[in-house]
Amino acid sequence: MTMLHYLTPTGISDLEYCETGRLFYINKLMPNHGKTTAPTVIGKFEHTVIEQFYKLTKIDWKELDSFENDKNLDNRISLAVQDSIEISRENFPLFFDCLEENIDPIKYRLKYLNELKSQQIKKLLKKGMSYNSAVAITLPFAIEKWLNSKVYGVRGIADLLFHNADGTITIEDIKSHNDRFDAFIHRSAHVAQGNAYAILVEEVYGKPVKQFQIFYSMDCHTETFKITKQSKQNVRDSILAGQILLQGDLPPKLEGLQKLKCKNCYKFKDVPNHCSSLDNPDSQGVAF
Ligand code: SF4
Repeated sequence: MTMLHYLTPTGISDLEYCETGRLFYINKLMPNHGKTTAPTVIGKFEHTVIEQFYKLTKIDWKELDSFENDKNLDNRISLAVQDSIEISRENFPLFFDCLEENIDPIKYRLKYLNELKSQQIKKLLKKGMSYNSAVAITLPFAIEKWLNSKVYGVRGIADLLFHNADGTITIEDIKSHNDRFDAFIHRSAHVAQGNAYAILVEEVYGKPVKQFQIFYSMDCHTETFKITKQSKQNVRDSILAGQILLQGDLPPKLEGLQKLKCKNCYKFKDVPNHCSSLDNPDSQGVAF
């Protein structure tokens, strides 16, 4: 019997982005084909900083009885950034210069994020919610949460999970696109990824997910997507299609207007010719 591969929400997003299944196949079965780029490293840095900031804010705000007494903002911004710099310095020493340029901008954006969350809490307090409940809903209850679906063989790490007052859970993914077209061209792939996380969260927590949101960290903008029965079914169909696809040969490249996506393909953005070269079996297994 053929062993099934475990899949990830990112893989399901790849399957949606490159519709022949080529990107999904390469990432799953030929993972050495790719290279670390500055945007990838900045993206990881942004994730780490924001997640660290949330962890520290949760500690600070839980200790307060009133939100007005928060005097520690500058300190936790510095700590979140400093911790993330150390992690990035160890993991990506060659990209340290581009990270340094991003330090003040991310500090500035963390202040703004803090203000957004403060305003959310103030609104909930005005509606009569207790301070503790407002904080619990406004800040994520899980950060970088490992999720595993035994039913569908899908596993992955969700950036942030939020409780809602109605008992549902909202999933948030942090994205560091700084180009609107890039975010636009990846939109349906992001929706597929969000639905895959929804399936995982519902199985792990036994609570419904009605909403997936993307936090665009470069301008602190949040885009929200509805999760429906049909959108989750589409992902279940993709999981099956992906398993079948992995049993075959390398799928073909995109053609026609779809080829436009190759310029924004995360794997081959800077080296689209490398994707073509994979059709030559001699080139397989060669990392660049
Ligand atoms: S470069 Fe184009 S064809 Fe190749 S994997 Fe990326 S999107 Fe698909």
